[in-house]
Amino acid sequence: MATIIDGKAFAANLRGEIARKVEILKQNHGLTPGLAVVLVGEDPASQVYVRNKGKSTIEAGMNSYEHKLDEDTGQAELLALIERLNRDPDVHGILVQLPLPAHIDEEAVINSISADKDVDGFHLSNVGKLAIGAEGIVPCTPLGCLMMLKQQLGDLSGKKAIVVGRSNIVGKPMAALLLRESCTVTIAHSRTRDLPGECREADIVVAAVGRPEMVKGDWIKPGATVIDVGINRIEKEDGGTRLVGDVEFDSAEKVAGAITPVPGGVGPMTIACLLHNTLQQACRLNAIDMPE
Ligand code: NAP
Repeated sequence: MATIIDGKAFAANLRGEIARKVEILKQNHGLTPGLAVVLVGEDPASQVYVRNKGKSTIEAGMNSYEHKLDEDTGQAELLALIERLNRDPDVHGILVQLPLPAHIDEEAVINSISADKDVDGFHLSNVGKLAIGAEGIVPCTPLGCLMMLKQQLGDLSGKKAIVVGRSNIVGKPMAALLLRESCTVTIAHSRTRDLPGECREADIVVAAVGRPEMVKGDWIKPGATVIDVGINRIEKEDGGTRLVGDVEFDSAEKVAGAITPVPGGVGPMTIACLLHNTLQQACRLNAIDMPE
């Protein structure tokens, strides 16, 4: 049976490390990292995400600035707020919760965030830096996946990796990160021929598809490491619901060497990596080395 990669414990440990480093920054440099989160509208899921991000930021000893705007806020008003946050020296990270209402151009908003405060790593400048292997800001979910892979496997160099999914927020940056680690990377998507066969070749499988339990146990090479990014809510026989990933856990667990569960795998790592990126940018913006 596979080793279960405990993302919840990993994330708790990472958050503890971040809090310790934040304390050092405060003591030695009088600097408190600050994260501004902007929410436009009343989307219930987004409200929960924003609340959780604010809570985790404060728990890490950082300053949290929440900006909640009405659903009908105009783009110009949102851009003006971002411009103020770009100039605010107490703000080291800016996150605009997506999705935005339909009347707002998401790409224009993301690219109006200062690339040095874009802790989601979605700004074109950070996307480009990741593509050419330069130092920038890496998107939180793929960064969390990479941290777990490195802890599990150590050096990833030369390993065959497949990323199933090519979204801009998960699949593509994940593939770029694995390439940076010198893996041989395959990117699969909805037009890939013989997806099971492609997966069976891989030492590392990252599934970011959004299709419940699509990747089966007999697609996995024995001993491979499986990172399941998917979060899908499905109905149970009793009428309730439960969360499952993009990998069929019960069959994959019997073949894989290590696997992340859903929930409790990749999910908890995402917010921890957001805090990591905010701390990192607070240091970079103030030309201070990250505390040991
Ligand atoms: P997305 O933007 O919908 O992209 C899905 C990708 O999967 C697309 O590239 C699509 O291919 C591919 N795909 C769809 N059906 C496929 C099939 N039958 N075979 C092969 N590939 C297929 O999704 P996303 O935003 O990357 O999210 C993926 C999953 O991760 C979702 O369940 C989401 O909830 C979850 N997620 C979790 C976290 C976290 O913190 N844990 C964060 C972000 C996302 P095409 O490009 O060809 O259409």
